[in-house]
Amino acid sequence: MKKFLALLMTAMLALALVTAGCGGSEEKAADGGAKVLRVGTEPSFAPFEMQADGSDEFTGFDMDLIRAIGKQLGYKVEISAMGFDALIPALQADNIDVALAGMSITEERKQQVIFSDPYYKSGLLVMVPKDNNDIKSIDDLKGKRIAVQIGTTGAFRAEKVEGAKVTAFNDNGSAVLEMKNGAADAVINDAPVLKYFLAQGGSEYAKTVGEVLNAEDYGIAVKKGNDKLAADINKALNELKQNGEFDKIYNKWFGEAK
Ligand code: GLN
Repeated sequence: MKKFLALLMTAMLALALVTAGCGGSEEKAADGGAKVLRVGTEPSFAPFEMQADGSDEFTGFDMDLIRAIGKQLGYKVEISAMGFDALIPALQADNIDVALAGMSITEERKQQVIFSDPYYKSGLLVMVPKDNNDIKSIDDLKGKRIAVQIGTTGAFRAEKVEGAKVTAFNDNGSAVLEMKNGAADAVINDAPVLKYFLAQGGSEYAKTVGEVLNAEDYGIAVKKGNDKLAADINKALNELKQNGEFDKIYNKWFGEAK
């Protein structure tokens, strides 16, 4: 699998090098062709980005938001899926123009990409099996088995727990499954995603414990140096907030005004 991924990345890189010379990306479409905004995401993060079983359509809050931003800026939006930890490398390799994946704005990531203005307030939370009464907060996770998604703030937080055995998965579903199967004691993930998961039926076997651990803001990431696109995105985001479109999308997925 690793070998296959490496090959795939090499192929994508080669393709990027070839297409770099002949337009296609947002900068090069000034000649009248529909400008394309290439968006990368990781669709195991409901309700922000997901794909229904057997469908290649991307749905969720982030997906509606980027389509609205694209429309506002006159772009044709093309979304592709990749691992969460592949998003920033894909931006840097110019394989995508924008990464939108419930990505928290962190100091480390700010060294690598430019973030838009924050568009959603989030934070981490701990989830355990419903019948577990020993783990009441993150402090009780010392020496325990924690399942997380690779490259996420939840994974970084889990790594800091003393003596914990952290297993990182490529997607969120697999991390949750590990816990469901009894192979992990807890999952650390973003609060809105865990709450949505519980509301969608997960509460039959899981529950969250303790308070939201910290405050994190989601931002839209673009390649360093692409200040123009970042400024355009902020402008569109602002306009969507002014004209009510942002609230409409927010209400569709979260059911309350922001
Ligand atoms: N917000 C978290 C992060 O940025 C998780 C994002 C995700 O899993 N899509 O790391």
